[in-house]
Amino acid sequence: MFKAIVINKDEASGKGYRAELTELDDAQLPEGDVTVSVHYSGLNYKDGLAITGKGPVVRRFPMVPGIDIVGKVQQTDHPNYQVGDSVILNGWGVGETHWGGLAQVARLKGDWLIPLPKGMAARDAAAIGTAGYTAMLCVMALQKHGVKPADGEIVVTGAAGGVGSVAVALLAKLGYEVVAVTGRATEADYLKSLGATAIMDRKELSEPGKPLAKERWAGAVDVVGSHTLANICASTRYRGVVTACGLAGGMDLPATVAPFILRGVTLMGIDSVMCPRQERLTAWQRLASELELSKLHAMVEEISLGQAIDMAGKLLQGQVRGRVVVDVN
Ligand code: NDP
Repeated sequence: MFKAIVINKDEASGKGYRAELTELDDAQLPEGDVTVSVHYSGLNYKDGLAITGKGPVVRRFPMVPGIDIVGKVQQTDHPNYQVGDSVILNGWGVGETHWGGLAQVARLKGDWLIPLPKGMAARDAAAIGTAGYTAMLCVMALQKHGVKPADGEIVVTGAAGGVGSVAVALLAKLGYEVVAVTGRATEADYLKSLGATAIMDRKELSEPGKPLAKERWAGAVDVVGSHTLANICASTRYRGVVTACGLAGGMDLPATVAPFILRGVTLMGIDSVMCPRQERLTAWQRLASELELSKLHAMVEEISLGQAIDMAGKLLQGQVRGRVVVDVN
């Protein structure tokens, strides 16, 4: 038997959607060629949506949520893995269509796993999690499209959240000038300690704006979407690059084509879930060497499996700073 958070939907009983901490039997685990003893998971925005039912993340019931897994191989029929190997999993529909990491044991497809980078602590990998790995995918996309520190300011939205905090730290380390956009003025010192050079109130970007505004940003990492993303595109410099990975402010995009056809702005979509393996490996190798541990440790809060359900609600209300690691044991 092992502990897990399980989400059930039973409208018939009148209880509707509910997540609870319970015990499962190994025999109930889904199919897969690798069984992992989970050490840590984490809470991402998507886990918040899954646990609270506020977004259509869970596609099958009952479901064990948790899109991140860091642990050790317990049993394997996969040629690339041996018992005892330390592994990471992010995405691939885990916690959505396949049982995920908010449990002490997970059974998965070995092809979804990547090895824990050499020298990286398991807890640090969970602290980075999908949010941090997505932040690195955004940074890699900016660089791939030629955005250099000398080109000008990079704007990071939702800066005090998970993706935002890691993006600020990574970009600052690489020498970029980072403007951190936040709704929490109280987190200004925190964001500066991560490397932000300036703080902007999220209200400055969240109202409907003009199709084109004064050119300011050389690049962007946006987790908010909606008017915020439209306004960022409108104020991105000639040939600048905007990476869009989130919808914390809305899924709509009330924009015009003006920035794209008049300023050659690139809008680059970032997806971590189905991202090809080679790019994941590169992202994680780079995280191992480029993310300063002191900054990572400053953005992490650790909780137990039993606290994850409460914390999911707080995360969606924007009350969580940085990253949440869940010690499932
Ligand atoms: P967090 O909850 O940790 O951070 C989100 C942050 O967004 C909050 O901390 C807050 O930052 C800001 N925010 C929240 N609500 C609003 C709002 N209504 N308007 C403007 N800003 C808001 O979430 P994550 O960092 O885990 O994820 C951020 C987004 O990125 C989510 O939408 C998530 O789904 C998406 N995502 C996408 C991935 C992909 O593969 N495409 C992978 C990972 C995440 P502050 O208080 O500083 O303003």
